[in-house]
Amino acid sequence: MTATSATDTEVAVIGAGPAGAATALVLRQAGRDVTLVAPDGELDGHRTVESAPPAVHLLLDELGAPTAGYADCLGTASAWGGPELAYRDYLVDGLGNGWQLDRARFDRSMLDAAGLAGARLLRTRSLGALRADGRWSFPHSGGLLTASFAVDATGRKSTFGVGQGARRQVADHLVAVAAVHPRSGYLGHSVVEAVAHGWWYAAALPDMRLQVVLLSDGDLVRRAGWAEPTALARALRDTHHVGRLVDTIEPRPVTVRAANSQVLTPCVGDGWIAVGDAAMAADPLSSAGVLAALRSGMTAGRAIVSGELADAAARQDHDRCNRQRFATYLRQRQYYYGLEQRWDTSFWLRRRSA
Ligand SMILES: Cc1cc2nc3c(=O)[nH]c(=O)nc-3n(C[C@H](O)[C@H](O)[C@H](O)COP(=O)(O)OP(=O)(O)OC[C@H]3O[C@@H](n4cnc5c(N)ncnc54)[C@H](O)[C@@H]3O)c2cc1C
Repeated sequence: MTATSATDTEVAVIGAGPAGAATALVLRQAGRDVTLVAPDGELDGHRTVESAPPAVHLLLDELGAPTAGYADCLGTASAWGGPELAYRDYLVDGLGNGWQLDRARFDRSMLDAAGLAGARLLRTRSLGALRADGRWSFPHSGGLLTASFAVDATGRKSTFGVGQGARRQVADHLVAVAAVHPRSGYLGHSVVEAVAHGWWYAAALPDMRLQVVLLSDGDLVRRAGWAEPTALARALRDTHHVGRLVDTIEPRPVTVRAANSQVLTPCVGDGWIAVGDAAMAADPLSSAGVLAALRSGMTAGRAIVSGELADAAARQDHDRCNRQRFATYLRQRQYYYGLEQRWDTSFWLRRRSA
């Protein structure tokens, strides 16, 4: 179903990544009228592949979303705290393999599932947001959308929540500098390798390609010039493990994305709630962003259905839980980065003291 020039909906979900799609699916399961708002054009051109742990299967089953057609991921091999690779296989979780998710394809399939479940889709180049008499009006490039409730599923930018006066509290300035190379052979695991000024990860793409990503702080990336293909290729040659997975290291086109940890405060207000990365975003080291986004969308969807968010005390409680979750995550992150003691460079010192 597609939204027309003037559409009235019960819930407007702004952003159609995993969190937005999961929210829409839960709302549709409860028979609610939902409109998913997505930007005109490609969903997100920057993304190629992301690893998903096996537990993602369970959530997709619950949502009635497709679980077939993704490449298996056997686990993670990481050189962290020492030079050798240590393997963590999903086998021990007893839930089957994880996946290397082609994110564009995954997002499309989630959007299709939401559409099949009866969610309306609005694609627009621009979206305003006004609140009057307890209702939302969203003037957009093709007309007007009105809604009783709004969900911010816009990812790390938290565009809608910030527009309502919420603040993004940013814990670091991590960025991801990525390039795609020809692969040297079979790769069943995601590979993580700590280096002096950050860490790398590599994940297999179809057609014998490999995505390699350097994670470091924005100022360090600027100083070293790693956003330049030649400098990134040089840094890749200096790695022990990740570089070996590449057939021939040559300068390749580079993309740069924010990968910082952050929390939105408050993450909920009168008539709106933020989900997924818009509410709280974690370091990609956890490889659990998609899982967390699905879970967050499902929780928010159920809270909207139950009507509990009409109560200011319940909203405060939800916001407190989100901040507590972020505080717990920051402690876990500090512990994990603290396991790597080989370098006393700014990248590692910042994280040990955070
Ligand atoms: C470098 C990097 C590597 C990562 N690797 C992994 C990994 O291996 N495994 C993993 O599980 N997670 C990984 N993550 C995290 C994962 O990408 C996110 O946690 C996850 O995508 C969050 O889902 P979301 O739906 O909240 O947000 P997003 O996936 O960001 O979706 C937000 C959507 O909202 C749309 N949008 C934005 N603004 C508007 C607007 N104004 N109007 C309408 N639509 C809008 C965007 O186009 C997008 O489609 C990684 C993140 C980074 C940065």
